[in-house]
Amino acid sequence: MKRAAILDRDGVINEFRRAVNRPEDLILYPEIAPAIRLLKSRGFLVCVATNQGGVGLGYMTDEQLEEVHDALTAQLAAKGAKLDAIASCTHAPHASCTCRKPQPGLLLQLQRTLHFSLPHSYMVGDRETDISAGVAAGVRTVRIVHGSIKIKTKANYSAHNLLEAVEWIITDAESTDDTITHRI
Ligand SMILES: [Mg+2]
Ligand SMILES: [Zn+2]
Repeated sequence: MKRAAILDRDGVINEFRRAVNRPEDLILYPEIAPAIRLLKSRGFLVCVATNQGGVGLGYMTDEQLEEVHDALTAQLAAKGAKLDAIASCTHAPHASCTCRKPQPGLLLQLQRTLHFSLPHSYMVGDRETDISAGVAAGVRTVRIVHGSIKIKTKANYSAHNLLEAVEWIITDAESTDDTITHRI
């Protein structure tokens, strides 16, 4: 049984003070590579699911988005943190596609490619639309909350950054691990 951690991109992996349209706009949070390495060491697939409506709106091209994601992959790989897949919705907002979060399409697309167990997998995001996508796909959810603001969320857990989220995911995964046989 395979598990996946599906990460939102902007505000979870990289800072999101302004649109990330070029590789030089990409500023990774410092805990990202260690958090991904920790997930991989526990056997998780690590994927990204990101809304990039700027492509559909004409602010950036598919090629530019690919350059940003090549840079993301390379920066993480240089720190020993390998991503298994990146799934992007490039449709414009309100285009009524089935993949833009809060729709679950991106998560289901990743599941069809990588064959992980949805109820044993996790979505991590900094917006409630990420959490709704996770709930709709049938995975467990963690909301990233920047700062000390209290927020209302449907997520199973809230954390300040990805490393905190991953520490909870690992503990939670152990408690739902039905492959462990208990000795008498
Ligand atoms: Mg985000
Ligand atoms: Zn879409």
